[in-house]
Amino acid sequence: MKEVKVNSFDQLGLAAPIVRALAEEKYETPTPIQAQAIPSVLAGRDLVGLAQTGTGKTAAFALPILNHLLNKRLRAEQRACRVLVLSPTRELSGQILESFRTYGRHARPTAALAIGGVPIGKQVRSLVNGVDVLVATPGRLLDLVQTRAVRLDRVEVFVLDEADRMLDMGFIRDIRKIVTQLPAQRQTLFFSATMPTEIEKLVRELLRDPVRVAVTPAAKTADRVEQRIVHVDRGDKSTLLAEMLKSEPIDRALVFTRTKHGADKVVRGLVKAGITAEAIHGNKSQNNRERTLAAFRAGRVKTLVATDIAARGIDVDGVSHVFNYDLPNIPESYVHRIGRTARAGAEGIAISFCSHDELPYLRDIEKLIKLSIPSTDRRRQRQVAPRDGHQPRHQDRKPNGRPGGHRREQANGHQSRDHHANGYSGNIESVAFLQPKRKDRRHSGGPGARRPMH
Ligand code: AMP
Repeated sequence: MKEVKVNSFDQLGLAAPIVRALAEEKYETPTPIQAQAIPSVLAGRDLVGLAQTGTGKTAAFALPILNHLLNKRLRAEQRACRVLVLSPTRELSGQILESFRTYGRHARPTAALAIGGVPIGKQVRSLVNGVDVLVATPGRLLDLVQTRAVRLDRVEVFVLDEADRMLDMGFIRDIRKIVTQLPAQRQTLFFSATMPTEIEKLVRELLRDPVRVAVTPAAKTADRVEQRIVHVDRGDKSTLLAEMLKSEPIDRALVFTRTKHGADKVVRGLVKAGITAEAIHGNKSQNNRERTLAAFRAGRVKTLVATDIAARGIDVDGVSHVFNYDLPNIPESYVHRIGRTARAGAEGIAISFCSHDELPYLRDIEKLIKLSIPSTDRRRQRQVAPRDGHQPRHQDRKPNGRPGGHRREQANGHQSRDHHANGYSGNIESVAFLQPKRKDRRHSGGPGARRPMH
């Protein structure tokens, strides 16, 4: 792959109305994916972008597409669209449309959104006269195609975003159906954070002699994020989260749970502890999710609890902390989750709670990111004195030379590294706030502890 050095958007060959919008957005330098992708897309090539959210990939396709629409001013035909962007979630689709509007504010493309979970009538109406850009989730788009509310035979540019997530969510068949409706003569832009075999197969089917660009492979995205593991008994996670949310200097925190039910439970625990928090997941209505996201963006709600799928594509700058209340069982999800902080050059902190039953997940994650994550231990069993009478070993392990560990604990010399936790280590004080509660004992995370819910 050719190394491209571009320091400004002017150099990329984008039209003046687009460059002006970028200046207004205070985008000064193209991100690596933008610098690599935009020239090829402007030249009309198909493209495979190996990049995840947070790298600036939306602008990497939206900008050259807007440029194309400006250069080739055509009126969209009735019930047709000139650009089709497919994304896996409603949130991400909404954000992509918003990006087109922001970057295209001086180019004024017509645009529409076709997502599930909201009444279809308005979407049907918005398509009657045809649009330049249609951003859609696969299921709703197929409904609209089947009822002839939209036809796809006029698509000039087709974008498939977050293809690997589409695979995870079972959308690949829908995508293949959609592709049969597209004209063979088109430009295809394909983005994915990872390239499993099935996705590579799709690339071979859908793209013609594509240019390939790759930025920050999944295993490296974590570099700008300060990561910590806290070993904790499962039943104590709720108390620990509330305590940390109160003690950490938090601008905005995103808390991940594996299940929707788990997300609601975490919110209830936090509210009980006096912390304003909201959950966002698939069981909430679209309106509710949008309201919650807006409140989080505006800083009215500082803590948002989300499942992986709901959080996918949440594009909020200024998330200072990501908490993994549950460790994900898919290690790539860990990288996606912690990538929600440290966006667009900022730094962030990712704190992951690991109960005994999640240790195998932690091992998988560390294998993937090729990093030993510094850890502290907040399990109660550590209150038992070491059998050999020695004081536990403390280490401040700092991967990549970055400051590691909980600042307060480090300052007190409490940081311990006891990953896979078979010994006694750490300090009594750090667990003292967790007074054993009778009902928590059954969740104490021993070898017989429950498997996490999926
Ligand atoms: P994305 O990967 O498309 O989700 O973009 C991540 C975030 O980076 C979004 O909040 C964008 O507004 C922001 N962004 C994208 N490109 C740039 C750029 N060149 N300079 C500054 N911020 C950017």
